[in-house]
Amino acid sequence: MLKPIIIANWKLNGDKILVQKFIKKISFDYKKYFKKNTIILSPPIIYIEYMKKCMKNLKLSFAVQNVDYNYQGAFTGEISTYMVQEIGAKYVILGHSERRKNHFENNLLVAKKFYCTKINNLIPILCIGETKNEKKSGLTKSILKKQIDEIFLICGKNAFNNTLIAYEPIWAIGTGTNASPILINKILKFIKKYIIYKSDNTNIKFYMQYGGSVSTENIKDIICQKYVDGVLIGSGSLNYKNFLKMIQISSKN
Ligand code: PEP
Repeated sequence: MLKPIIIANWKLNGDKILVQKFIKKISFDYKKYFKKNTIILSPPIIYIEYMKKCMKNLKLSFAVQNVDYNYQGAFTGEISTYMVQEIGAKYVILGHSERRKNHFENNLLVAKKFYCTKINNLIPILCIGETKNEKKSGLTKSILKKQIDEIFLICGKNAFNNTLIAYEPIWAIGTGTNASPILINKILKFIKKYIIYKSDNTNIKFYMQYGGSVSTENIKDIICQKYVDGVLIGSGSLNYKNFLKMIQISSKN
């Protein structure tokens, strides 16, 4: 069976002290639980090197929270896929709703970043999801389709091979209200079928995450759903006690 994939997105949070404490604490339980899960840490990019230094022999993977689609040049403030590779991160979170909202990233821009990430041998973690109003208006599936279609348009039929997709309903992110496990399963099933249909390939390999107020209370019921390969945890991943507890619960799944 596939190991659950647990992604910790620290967003714009944390400092060197938290990095030290976090790594020290999770090191204790590393052997016991971590091998039963695939753990991907995504602190702010500036702390990745330091986190690696603190980790010593721990084998954890890293994701960055954003990337530019240009390889190099006059793009002040941006980071390239080459730089991401140099610091040893393997994954790139793309299309997070906070970037879509606060940095005006539309589906086309996200697709360009996705393309650049893939051709430079990094693995995209594509976040998609609808707002509360879109959900109320019954638009969830059409919004998800649009977000997925643009990736196919720019990257071609095999776009999603060896990628991760996180269904992150915007109404659930940072609100303390998660989508129900039944709804998560239903939507992930829809996403999976749609991608297979658009890829015209039943063997295409991609993994599906849920993100949005995942906590120690709800992870058990979410992770055991048929179409859930793992979870993306935001604020809950900053507290190492809770984070460890979630990994522990997911190990028993
Ligand atoms: C996120 O930002 O991707 C996320 C899932 O956040 P939270 O867990 O805080 O809802």
